[in-house]
Amino acid sequence: MQVKFNNRGADFYATLKERTEAYFQSKNIKPTGNYKLYIKTFVFSAILIFCYVSLVFLNPPVWAAILLCVLLGLDMAAIGFNMMHDGAHGSYSNNKKVNEVMALTLNLLGANSFFWKQKHNVNHHSYTNIEGMDDDIDVNPFLRLHVSQEKRWFHRFQHVYALLAYSLMFFFWVFFRDFKKYFTGKIAKYTPIRNMTVKEHVIFWVSKLVHFSVFLVIPMIYAGVVETIVGYLLITFVLGLVISVVFQLAHIVEGTEFVTPQNDESVQVESEWAIHQIKTTANFATRNPLVNWLLGGLNFQVEHHLFPGVSHVHYPEINRILKRTCTEFNVKYIEFPTVTGAFFSHMKHLKKTGVA
Ligand SMILES: [Zn+2]
Repeated sequence: MQVKFNNRGADFYATLKERTEAYFQSKNIKPTGNYKLYIKTFVFSAILIFCYVSLVFLNPPVWAAILLCVLLGLDMAAIGFNMMHDGAHGSYSNNKKVNEVMALTLNLLGANSFFWKQKHNVNHHSYTNIEGMDDDIDVNPFLRLHVSQEKRWFHRFQHVYALLAYSLMFFFWVFFRDFKKYFTGKIAKYTPIRNMTVKEHVIFWVSKLVHFSVFLVIPMIYAGVVETIVGYLLITFVLGLVISVVFQLAHIVEGTEFVTPQNDESVQVESEWAIHQIKTTANFATRNPLVNWLLGGLNFQVEHHLFPGVSHVHYPEINRILKRTCTEFNVKYIEFPTVTGAFFSHMKHLKKTGVA
């Protein structure tokens, strides 16, 4: 499948890029992560170790264990949003090795960084909301995110069961979707996985083994089999729910666009690449400092899609430049002022596409 954007006279992105580069030059700062990101790395890593040690070795009472599992699930999501996501985009640090280590935190959480980089950096970022190319909207038959996807009778209830499906998502990712990609050699409908080197094969199996040992085998030995299974399920449910909802709020809401290829060979997108990104992406709660701190810039998703190589710690500043440039070029910028507003918009979208 070939995707073509109409990049003739692509003045919008050229201007925006120029202004953003001028900002970094005038402040004399690098577009990669800084001390703000290092503090987060320390805090989220410390919480991970604290929860793990307490749960596995300190035999906490049931109520405390439940709270610790929920906290661990949330903390793992924060590691994914802030450290892994920047690392995988190469924006965490100037040092490639540091980025690689940060990207590999995803393997510790149970998934696979090699597949993520292709699924996310290539399929999702280049071909946002294009049916058959963007793996993030490929969750059929469970959910119908766009009207061109096959409709089943149960989709009319999808806004009711979506949160349950989201909470199961990470568990399926770790135990099923990675292996499906590994054995079928495909990401989304149209894209083959680029050749896996021997090193990548080894990393795939070793890190699955490490994850299962750290999060299942060792806890079973020290804290009990049933306790471990229940705890593991609770952690992955919280993690899956939070990750899915955050990613959905950025693209699958009212007002964002979708592209349906007319045939299996090629698709012509009518706008320039950058404008396609803005049409398919929404920001939310960008004035909420807690959301900004926790979500690793995923609520500044428009800036992220336009400048994936820039660390999320700089997005609030780029947001000002972006809004000004959008107004000048008459480009519609989508933002939901609150998380709740974006969440209900997502639910309305699901309800609509479930019956359309
Ligand atoms: Zn990204």
